[in-house]
Amino acid sequence: MFHRLDLRRASRVIGLLLVLVLMAGFGAGAQANELILHFLDVGQGDSILIQTPKGVDILVDAGDDRAGKQVVLPYLEKMGIESLDMVVMTHPHFDHIGGLIPVLDRYPVGQILADGQIHTTRTYEGLLTLIYEKGIPFYLARAGDKLTIPGLDEVMVLNPMEPFLPGLNNNSVVLKLRYGSVVILLTGDVEAEAEERILAEASLSKVQILKAAHHGSKTSSTKAFLTAVNPNLAIMSVGADNVYGLPDEEILNRFEEANIQVLRTDLLGTIIVVSDGSSFRIVEPGESLFTESQADGGSRNGLVNINTATMEELMELPGIGPTLARRIIQEREGTPFRKLEDLLRVPGIGPKRMENLVPLISF
Ligand SMILES: [Zn+2]
Repeated sequence: MFHRLDLRRASRVIGLLLVLVLMAGFGAGAQANELILHFLDVGQGDSILIQTPKGVDILVDAGDDRAGKQVVLPYLEKMGIESLDMVVMTHPHFDHIGGLIPVLDRYPVGQILADGQIHTTRTYEGLLTLIYEKGIPFYLARAGDKLTIPGLDEVMVLNPMEPFLPGLNNNSVVLKLRYGSVVILLTGDVEAEAEERILAEASLSKVQILKAAHHGSKTSSTKAFLTAVNPNLAIMSVGADNVYGLPDEEILNRFEEANIQVLRTDLLGTIIVVSDGSSFRIVEPGESLFTESQADGGSRNGLVNINTATMEELMELPGIGPTLARRIIQEREGTPFRKLEDLLRVPGIGPKRMENLVPLISF
């Protein structure tokens, strides 16, 4: 069903495909010296795309099945990704691995790094079967493992460790990545027990960016752990109005008391962080990922300038047909668009459509 849908879309949006090809070119340019971390807004779940400065693409989890199809796949397409060098399965819960089935169906994957816990849901067994059928090399991550990933200066597995701790969450794959002086800690859904063991076993000191464990649940992010890793920035991947009431108020207070900036996907949508190895910055909504110097002349960055584009150029954008293109032109004749949110003035453009336009437009 998915393939048919893709084909139908492809025939309709040849123009868009050209834009994507251009973007892939710019992406390679941006990757010459920058590490890009995309914390995807997959609702309640986790999915992180890592693009190293040497052009290695790694996907850590892919949300649940719905998010995999509706968020992760379109996002990877939008980024011009043709294959994934590595997929990390942090642990077998559906909000992390459900979306990997559509991803593995669609994309060639170089290798899989996983916790390897036993779990008997249909989704997990289906995913393992798919990996087996496709013959994707499958590696177990264990604390102390060091990985060599081009573009990163250090990649260490901090968790799980055998014998396993009780509960699937506590045996999530935890990765410490370092690019220059910027250290990133990806924690899956580990809880207090695993945090304690990581602190005891790994000489863990300050990190710059922390993916807050378990969607800001109060079973995680202990005071001792936060004190030890003392991040400048924490990202919480959490669904808007989720039934679990996450992130937990107590945890939010704990981060605030520790003076740690928290960014949440339920409030901000997908969060993109870029680092040159000495510092990092958060990509503003509406800001192009790729700088002007990487453009090869012509229209700025190869992006569609929403204030000057012709109707035909606007219609190359995803979700923009003749009606919306006409409305955009009418609206900008009144007041030009200055920032991304201004697009919401156009009847028919909501937050979802706006988000799809982020990497494709300029003002
Ligand atoms: Zn989870």
